[in-house]
Amino acid sequence: MNILVQKYGGSSVGTPERIKAVASRIVESRRSGNSVVAVVSAMGDTTDELIALARQVSSKPPKREMDMLLSTGEQISIALLAMAIHELGEPVISLTGPQVGIITDNAHTRAKILRVEPDRVRSELAKGRIVIVAGFQGLSRDDAEITTLGRGGSDTTAVALAAALGADVCEIYTDVDGVFTADPRVVPTARKLADISYGEMLEMASLGAVVLQPRSVEYASQHGVVIHVRSSFSSNEGTYVRGEKTVERDMVVVGVAHDTNVAKIVVMDVPDRPGVAHRIFSALAAEQVNVDMIVQSTKQENTTDLLFTVTRDDLPRTLEIIDGVAKELGASGVLHTTGLGKVSIVGAGMVSNPGVAARMFEALAQRGINIQVISTSEIKISCLIDLDAVPEAVRAIHEAFNLSVDEGQSQAKVAG
Ligand code: ASP
Ligand code: MG
Repeated sequence: MNILVQKYGGSSVGTPERIKAVASRIVESRRSGNSVVAVVSAMGDTTDELIALARQVSSKPPKREMDMLLSTGEQISIALLAMAIHELGEPVISLTGPQVGIITDNAHTRAKILRVEPDRVRSELAKGRIVIVAGFQGLSRDDAEITTLGRGGSDTTAVALAAALGADVCEIYTDVDGVFTADPRVVPTARKLADISYGEMLEMASLGAVVLQPRSVEYASQHGVVIHVRSSFSSNEGTYVRGEKTVERDMVVVGVAHDTNVAKIVVMDVPDRPGVAHRIFSALAAEQVNVDMIVQSTKQENTTDLLFTVTRDDLPRTLEIIDGVAKELGASGVLHTTGLGKVSIVGAGMVSNPGVAARMFEALAQRGINIQVISTSEIKISCLIDLDAVPEAVRAIHEAFNLSVDEGQSQAKVAG
């Protein structure tokens, strides 16, 4: 029997009514002859609420206990969904991440899946049951602790299960119709993409498009899993994420992403000699702080300023680490700012089309938007700008690359 792996996000199971609607959809898939494995997120804003709860009792909650707490959110939704399916008369069982053999490293709150041991899932499917799986959680290989996979981690649970079970497609059900050329809340004329390549999707997701956890895209590309991002409120085709692009090959730029979770740090007047950048960034890497943009500029003959960005959430940790290192290196000070955002364009066609960067900068210049930092790769260009200017910048760039809905084509819709 064909194995179908589906994932339902938090907004898709946000209320008892929605849980019932998802149950019907799953039962429908089952009754049309598929073996169904459905991965679910915590209901609505449960994870945020649990995090807020933790902060009320502790200023720095131990990560192990955070995982113990956060993993409960998904356990609520799997049990309720299984009950709703049971009510519809189909055999079903709910299972936690550890029960379905999601084996991770022991990096609590941002664990990485090392392997999947799908025997339990297979045997439940063989009994004719629908299997409901708690996303976002696993079991650490070395010490059998409950771990969580980082925000949005249910996507990766679903992709990893699809890979382990040899499913053709992993369906990610969400509250939007697919992957758009920009966030439709910012650009109402944004267009749904029929296809996007792994590389482009990985950039879009990493640069701020929250529709998929970047790690799930990486996992899918490594294991050749096709992802179908689609709405849980309609039966429309969504966006296929896969190796090759089939439909929209002629697009140089496929989308504009933006990210408002950005903080900038400047380490001033560090000595201009070998080993300085290594000292700073290895200290951050050791504490698992992800550094994004990096610029080094020479001011005087033997000193330089080192500027870099991290997520705003990582800023306090980063400053703690950097203060010590800066003193040790004899820097004259450390500055930081948070009122910043990053806008990016993504497209595999950029490498072979000159003038793409110029067109992006022109769009910003025409609106009088100042660019603070630029970074590029083969398939993306990012600009750091003032936070307030982000929506206007996204719209201007979207327009400059003609990404909007064509005449006669239906407008992008966001539900829920
Ligand atoms: N519930 C987790 C979160 O909110 C995981 C997920 O939804 O994928 O990040
Ligand atoms: Mg998500």
